[in-house]
Amino acid sequence: MDTSQVRRDLSGGRSAPLPAGRFAPSPSGDLHIGNLRTAVLAWLFARTTNRQFLLRMEDLDRAAVGSDQRQIDDLRSIGLDWEPPVTYQTTRLAIYDAVVSQLTGDGRTFECFCTRREILEAPSAPHTPPGAYPGTCANLTAAQRDERRGGRPPAIRIRAETTEFAVSDQFYGEYIGAVDDFVIRRNDGTPAYNLAVVIDDAAFGIDQVVRGDDLISSAPRQAYLATLLGHQAPTYVHVPMVLNTKGIRLSKRDGAVTLADLRDAGISAAQVLAAIWRSLGMASPGETLSLVEAAARFDSAHLPRDPWIFDGV
Ligand code: GLU
Repeated sequence: MDTSQVRRDLSGGRSAPLPAGRFAPSPSGDLHIGNLRTAVLAWLFARTTNRQFLLRMEDLDRAAVGSDQRQIDDLRSIGLDWEPPVTYQTTRLAIYDAVVSQLTGDGRTFECFCTRREILEAPSAPHTPPGAYPGTCANLTAAQRDERRGGRPPAIRIRAETTEFAVSDQFYGEYIGAVDDFVIRRNDGTPAYNLAVVIDDAAFGIDQVVRGDDLISSAPRQAYLATLLGHQAPTYVHVPMVLNTKGIRLSKRDGAVTLADLRDAGISAAQVLAAIWRSLGMASPGETLSLVEAAARFDSAHLPRDPWIFDGV
């Protein structure tokens, strides 16, 4: 009997997706060594816990032509594999719209006409944490809405019924962070990242989210929305970022940081992978290791908790 059969039987005939981890890059350019390291960690966490591993292109905005394929090629060239197909969020727009309609039908959303500037300049309401949406459009009358509309299409915000939410993170423990009336559909009609990520993780059985710790403050909003939609929030592992020698998040401006740049500098994908193992304390200098070999010695309890300062392979 295969495992999918077992899952079907346990779910009373309904087919449930197998539990999975994922890597979800935005195809806005080539992956750099920090992104590759996060992808490797996401793969290790998933594969060493009997999960599927899925790849999702978060291409709702900032997509650069051809960068999805280059990212796929780079991930393959360091040895990653995943269960096909690669999901593209732009193929799922009707699904995101249906969820926005459902939430709206349930009275869980409101239209927001605020500009970024209005939000920044609005006095924050009592009990509203700093940086949270100040509630300007939350309770408008129909007449006020018409007045504010002013020809501009509204964004849609979730009507949050809490100001904070707790998530469980393997590195951070119980992490409690702010939840506000966040945007789920932007005023250009694009589904917001926080909405799409929640819908997709749930739809594909992703119950383990491993990603850079720059995103940890988004996790409470996402977990709250997941719960609101009747899904179990995933467990999180927010992993340390890769920084340049000035302590700033690594970026393309830091020189040879993509596989293509490094290849031009005479450094192979295998050498890049070896540098990633060293940065994770999983191999000694000069030691090469395949992903499968690394999985055999992977112990998440021993991963470094500090950022990796990258100054070349
Ligand atoms: N697409 C996001 C990024 O590239 C990551 C989203 C996520 O892992 O939840 O930063």
